[in-house]
Amino acid sequence: MTNYIDPKPLHCSMEFIREIAEILIRSTKFKVGGNIEKDIINKLGGIVHHPDTAGWDAKFAETDSLYVDGVRDFKIFLKDKLYDLRNRFTLAHELGHFILHSKSGQIKIHARRYGTSQIEKEANRFAAELLMPKNELEELFNQDKSVCELADIFDVSIVAMNVRIDSLRL
Ligand SMILES: [Zn+2]
Repeated sequence: MTNYIDPKPLHCSMEFIREIAEILIRSTKFKVGGNIEKDIINKLGGIVHHPDTAGWDAKFAETDSLYVDGVRDFKIFLKDKLYDLRNRFTLAHELGHFILHSKSGQIKIHARRYGTSQIEKEANRFAAELLMPKNELEELFNQDKSVCELADIFDVSIVAMNVRIDSLRL
């Protein structure tokens, strides 16, 4: 079995993380409200395991986690089978660890759900930039959409949308 490295924080600016997320959105042609698993993770060679899939193994899935074995070779284990909004955010978050902390597969990492706060912060920021891109959100916000409508359009929880609106100071 591979010896995995614990991910290290990048300590980069939030603008840098935004740029990385925007590059990924452009290169995968990901649309607002799109399917993270099929539209991005699978295209990058990643596989999502959850209690309904064949490769799911309870010992890997005590918590949501990410194993990176190489470029185009990574697995995300979800502990819950339901594809709810929380799982959607979790997928975007684990994808953030893959892109940022494994350098898209160059470093073999194992990211657990509760790592050090800085790497979690970076992965959360990446997830927010991916699921709720600044320009699209600002445009719709300025059209007087409500938080509920915005959460619906971007397919995120109302809590996540509120946090995002606050952090963009809209
Ligand atoms: Zn994490």
